[in-house]
This record gives sequence, structure tokens and C-alpha cells, in this order.
Amino acid sequence: MTDRLLLESIHFAAEKHRHQRRKDADGLPYINHPIAVACLLASEGGITDEEVLITAVLHDVLEDTDTRSEEIEAGFGGRIRSLVEEVSDDKRLPKQKRKQLQIERAAGSSDKAKLVKLADKICNLRDMSECPPAGWDVERIREYFDWARAVVDQLAGIHPRMERLFFEEYRRRP
Ligand code: NDP
Ligand code: ZN
Repeated sequence: MTDRLLLESIHFAAEKHRHQRRKDADGLPYINHPIAVACLLASEGGITDEEVLITAVLHDVLEDTDTRSEEIEAGFGGRIRSLVEEVSDDKRLPKQKRKQLQIERAAGSSDKAKLVKLADKICNLRDMSECPPAGWDVERIREYFDWARAVVDQLAGIHPRMERLFFEEYRRRP
């Protein structure tokens, strides 16, 4: 694994998410989010494992773009493909079911996938507090905080420092 592959993953994700925006009122470019998740892992989590950082950069391409797993394998190898698959919901399932499965499957995930899931939830709670999705009322934001917490409860022990960061964000639940 080299720095080159990490840069290539950013290039790949930026291309895949190029027409997408986050759900906040200003419609931040989507790519800001996967970059924020990778940055959080590196800066606040002290993670240097490039498989984890690359998976963070790519964590939403299967779920939110037309990317196929084969493309990830061709560009980044089979291990990254499996990790990205592990952190992706099955989009053929209804939303409610997908959310339930995230809770049920979190504890059985690989350590690398757990780190990405935890960082993703921290970033999303930060976004919910600082630039919430347009049109969401307080009740819906609360539901999101509680669901994120139910997932993170299943990740206990994976990275105490980042778990503390999550609970610091959780305290901002409206
Ligand atoms: P999601 O729970 O999928 O929306 C949250 C996700 O959006 C985050 O996990 C994040 O995903 C992404 N995201 C994009 N922009 C932001 C942002 N600015 N801040 C935080 N997260 C952001 O929402 P859905 O709308 O699909 O609905 C989820 C559930 O809510 C459904 O199960 C539905 O039943 C329920 N619902 C409740 C309503 C209510 O009023 N209570 C109304 C309608 C639905 P990522 O990490 O992938 O980027
Ligand atoms: Zn995400």
C-alpha cells in the first residue's frame, strides 16, 4: 500500500460523487464527507493504516453512486473491495431494514470496517448538529442520533478515543 493509492482513491471518489451534494441547505459537495471521514481517522484517531483510510474515502461509492464492486477491485485490490462492501448497505433492501441490519451486523464486522463505521457516524452527527439535512425536524434528528448510537454501541472497544469523540457529539442531541 502506498500514498499513491490513497490519492487515487480520492480522485476516484471525487469523480464518482461529482454530481452529488450533501443534504444540508447549502448542498455541500458530497466528496467533502468521505474526505472528512478519512481526515478524522488520521488526525483525531491517529490511524495510519492505508486500507482503513482508503476504505473511508470510498465508503459511500457503492451505496450512493453507480460504482460496481469490480471497479474497486480493479483499482484498489480485493481487500479494499471487501472492506468497502462491508461498510455498504444493500440498497435492494428497504431503508428501515438496512438501518436495522447496520445495528445487527456492526459487532461482527472486521476491525477495519468498524473504524470506518465509527468515524462515519461521528462525522454524520457533527453534520447533523452543524449543517443538518434541509427539512428535518427535531424529532427526525433525534431518531438519527439514537440510531447512530445503537450502531456505535455495537462497536464498543474498537477505538476508545474515537468512541469518546462520538459520545461528545452525541451530547449535542437536540
Ligand atoms: P438517512 O437516515 O439515510 O439520512 C441520514 C444520512 O444522510 C446520513 O447517514 C448520511 O449518510 C447522509 N447525509 C447527507 N447529508 C447529511 C447531513 N447534512 N447531515 C447528516 N447526514 C447527512 O435518511 P432518510 O431520509 O433516508 O430516512 C431515514 C429514516 O427516517 C427512514 O428509515 C425513514 O423511515 C425515517 N423517516 C422519518 C421521518 C420523520 O419525520 N421522523 C420522515 C421520513 C423518514 P452517509 O454517511 O451515507 O453520507
Ligand atoms: Zn458516510
